Amino acid sequence: MPNSRAVQPIDILLVEDNPGDARLTQEVLKDSKVKNTLHIVTDGVEAMDFLYRRGSFQAAPRPDIILLDLNLPRMDGREVLHAIKDEESLRRIPIVVMTTSDDDHDILQAYDLYANCYITKPVDFQRFIEIVKTIENFWFSIVRLPPD
Ligand SMILES: [Mg+2]
Repeated sequence: MPNSRAVQPIDILLVEDNPGDARLTQEVLKDSKVKNTLHIVTDGVEAMDFLYRRGSFQAAPRPDIILLDLNLPRMDGREVLHAIKDEESLRRIPIVVMTTSDDDHDILQAYDLYANCYITKPVDFQRFIEIVKTIENFWFSIVRLPPD
C-alpha cells in the first residue's frame, strides 16, 4: 500500500533559542531512520511567521510536528502554544514542549494550553541525545501523525 511517509520526509519545526540544544537535536535527527527535514527558528515571532508563511518564510512547508521550547525571546513558548492551538488551521499539528523547566506550574499550564506532550530537557548531554532519539522513535515512527 502506498505510504506518503515513505517518500515524503517529515517536516519538523524546532523552536529553540539555545544554539547548543538546536545543534545537538540537529545532529541526532540527521541520523534518523525516518527521513526528515528540520527547520529551526529561534523565537516565537519567527515560529508564527514560519507557520503563517510570512516574510522570509513564504515557501515554508506546514510542519508535521513542532518541538517547542518554552522560554524564548520576543514571544515565549506559552504564547506560541496558545496561538497555534487557538487557530483551527494549525491546532492539529502535534506540539512537543521541550524545556529546561520542571516546574509543576509550567507543566500544568502547557497541558492546559493543549500541548501534546511535555518533556524536561536533561542537562546531561548523553541523556539529551537519548531523549531526542526517543522522541524520534515515538513521534515519527509509532505515532500516526495527522494526514495533510
Ligand atoms: Mg530557551
